[in-house]
Amino acid sequence: MSRPTCPNCHYPQNACLCASIETMQVKPELIILQDPSEVGHAKNSVRLLELVIPNTQVVVGETADDFAVLREQLAQSKKPVYLVYPSDTSVSANQTKIESEVILLFLDGTWRKAYKLLQLNPWLQAYPALHLDLDSASNYTIRKASRSDSLSTLEAAAMMLKAIDAKQNVAPLTNALSAMVEQRLASMPADVRARYR
Ligand SMILES: [Zn+2]
Repeated sequence: MSRPTCPNCHYPQNACLCASIETMQVKPELIILQDPSEVGHAKNSVRLLELVIPNTQVVVGETADDFAVLREQLAQSKKPVYLVYPSDTSVSANQTKIESEVILLFLDGTWRKAYKLLQLNPWLQAYPALHLDLDSASNYTIRKASRSDSLSTLEAAAMMLKAIDAKQNVAPLTNALSAMVEQRLASMPADVRARYR
């Protein structure tokens, strides 16, 4: 039997995050390509990202065929499209002037899953790639919320928004992430929790 979930945030009712969600509007369009195995993953940050920035688009799939509709949508769009992924040819989002009316593509999941998505979707490499300078001051502030070594998609989105517009307030994103981390810590046995503090 599955645990009852909150109809709004879809987290378990005893870990409902609604009180910590403050929505925000941003100029860049965020599109998340998500591996099917990440859907419903408890630690996945994309659901939280969608709650905070409601016009975030999430497209679940693996192969180029799975993303056919998205590819058509991108081909029709007049906005510049960037892939957020570190590579030999990517440029630093923190050191490049990027206009605000853009489409940002994110590959959700672990490093391994994101790499697999990229291999299965060579069409993505037609778009210029951006990476984030993780040691820049504002990015460090964003990362403090997570206490994890891997960058979540929500954190990457917050950092990209900040890189594009330094005045952009990303606190609704980092606050929601902190709340999720706190909920998870609160649900752990004390001895396990001690390792994360
Ligand atoms: Zn809720």
